Amino acid sequence: MSKVFFIKDNFLPKLGNALQKFDLSAWKGKKVAIKLHMGEYGNLNYVRPPIAGKIVEVLKEAGAEPFLIDSATLYKAERHTPKKYLETARKNGFTEETMGCPVLASNTSVPKDGRLFPAGVIKEIAEADAMLVLTHAKGHAFSALGGAIKNLGMGAVDRSTKMACHDKANMQVSLEKCIGCGACVKVCPVNAISIKNEKASVSVRCWGCGKCFKACPQKAMSPKEFLSDHGLASCALAVLECFGKKDLLFVSILMDICDVCDCHGDAPFARVQNIGFLLSQNILAIENATVDLILKESPGFFDRLGYRDPKQQIEWLEKEGCGKPDYELEEV
Ligand code: SF4
Ligand code: SF4
Repeated sequence: MSKVFFIKDNFLPKLGNALQKFDLSAWKGKKVAIKLHMGEYGNLNYVRPPIAGKIVEVLKEAGAEPFLIDSATLYKAERHTPKKYLETARKNGFTEETMGCPVLASNTSVPKDGRLFPAGVIKEIAEADAMLVLTHAKGHAFSALGGAIKNLGMGAVDRSTKMACHDKANMQVSLEKCIGCGACVKVCPVNAISIKNEKASVSVRCWGCGKCFKACPQKAMSPKEFLSDHGLASCALAVLECFGKKDLLFVSILMDICDVCDCHGDAPFARVQNIGFLLSQNILAIENATVDLILKESPGFFDRLGYRDPKQQIEWLEKEGCGKPDYELEEV
């Protein structure tokens, strides 16, 4: 059973104290990638800069050499290239001056085999000695929970891997089984399905959320290769395997928990305001605790989003030997 530390008040001092519970002396002289999402411009839910700044401060005091890193996005918005990303990060409060360490954005990668398909892991992350995964927990259309797994599976890989993840999760229709009832059309959140010649047809807009798969009475819909949460989890595993277990640390921020992720510049108010901060060395334990605490605060949060069970990714990673999701919460 893994320990998950839980901070509910006096956040920054307690974050400093909680980080000391891990053997940070082992990171002395090591390059530590702090993987985080620095927010689309206009989004106000992303990790607040003083939280990242406090982590940098503690790591530097321990003799580590931290740097902040994220990847350029697949979609064309304000973080599409490393240059644009850094300009957005500056506007959102993340600069070398404010953070006290380098702030990087990248689309350069190192190829890794991956479990389900090859993954290009962001080079600066793959070549770091250790990684602290700083995650803002929220809902996400692709994976139900936008947590630490999503932070790595989509956020720590290059653009072509992000594209592969989306493509491989697209739905296909069995024309023999489809009766053209339109139940799938009604549930698709991105209007990717139309009825042509009394059969469903799926466009490239499909992002593999799985809602049509669940809604079809004929079982005529199936993902091309796998549901998207497994793809994300597979990419996350490729990133995790760049490090030994002792060189990984996870900090998840359960504040401003919106239905949609921090990639949305027009994200609405959060549905769940504030729960606290979590820290663990086990990604499955911290994800499991994140889901449980969100559901305790807001029963039905993920059902309302209507995508999938947020624990599917955790279960898949457990089967792949990534660890156990059992946890014991300890309030700090
Ligand atoms: S719900 Fe199933 S049977 Fe109905 S139109 Fe869609 S794919 Fe065809
Ligand atoms: S998987 Fe989701 S996005 Fe893709 S067609 Fe089905 S409902 Fe639409």
